[in-house]
Amino acid sequence: MLPYSSLQEAEAAMGRSLTFAETLWFNYSANKSDYVLYCHNIPLIFFLTTFLPIVYVVIEFLFPDYAASYKIQPKIKVSLYENFKVYLGVMRTFFLLVAPILLASHPSVQMIGIRTSLPLPSLLEIASQLLVYFLIEDYTNYWIHRFFHCKWMYNNIHVVHHEYTAPTGFATQHAHWFRYWCLGIPSFLGPSIAPGHMVTFLLWLALRQFEAIENHSGYDFPWTYKKFIPFSAGAEYHDYHHYVGEKSQSNFWHPIFTYCDYLYGTDKGYRNRKKLLAQQERWSKSEGKRAKGEHMR
Ligand SMILES: [Zn+2]
Ligand SMILES: [Zn+2]
Repeated sequence: MLPYSSLQEAEAAMGRSLTFAETLWFNYSANKSDYVLYCHNIPLIFFLTTFLPIVYVVIEFLFPDYAASYKIQPKIKVSLYENFKVYLGVMRTFFLLVAPILLASHPSVQMIGIRTSLPLPSLLEIASQLLVYFLIEDYTNYWIHRFFHCKWMYNNIHVVHHEYTAPTGFATQHAHWFRYWCLGIPSFLGPSIAPGHMVTFLLWLALRQFEAIENHSGYDFPWTYKKFIPFSAGAEYHDYHHYVGEKSQSNFWHPIFTYCDYLYGTDKGYRNRKKLLAQQERWSKSEGKRAKGEHMR
């Protein structure tokens, strides 16, 4: 809860006028406890997990030809019913496990020093903290994910997430509860090391959810934001990890930068396959031209 009873009091304490964003935050949060503000993470994650995958279904429905041309594994179709079934399973894990953990974890958020008061962080502070969070998440998640590909861990836990060799947005969080729980560790590690404002924290959780769904969407659209981020990769990269399945010792990358796969050489299988596919495409194009030339003669 903010320690000011009015806008004027807040402005007097800060020695300046509030910005537009700060006024909005004041009006919204002044009478809400820190716990209530923190608990916004539950509807936020629920909303993104439910509605973002629908965007891909709508694109598929309205522009089938366009969607088909960017589908990563076009031969595999997952029905709406199957997607709905997997979504219900994800929601069951979310409400029975994740939400109670989130509700109970507020003391740790207070302990690490995530603030709710004014002033709001600058855009530079938000951007630099998010960059740190992503780098920490990438490194930690890489090793946790690799650990889940050890034989026992894979066969008993991670196999659930790999049930879909062609993932869909609804199956993003389709995982054993232990894997689901472990995913939270890297997501909290960054904010613990570089604690910021509650707004940054909620934005971080939203971005984390957003990119995970995009990774599992099954589509490699040219306008996806990851195409414009250096050392990053789109959905096709993680799709390969699912495509190879159990034997996959490749593409452990999560969520933004692929530097760990590059550093530890776990992207070789993927790169070789890309090279091979490019060679095949060149070959079939030159064969097509040759056949056309012979036909014209
Ligand atoms: Zn995996
Ligand atoms: Zn996955």
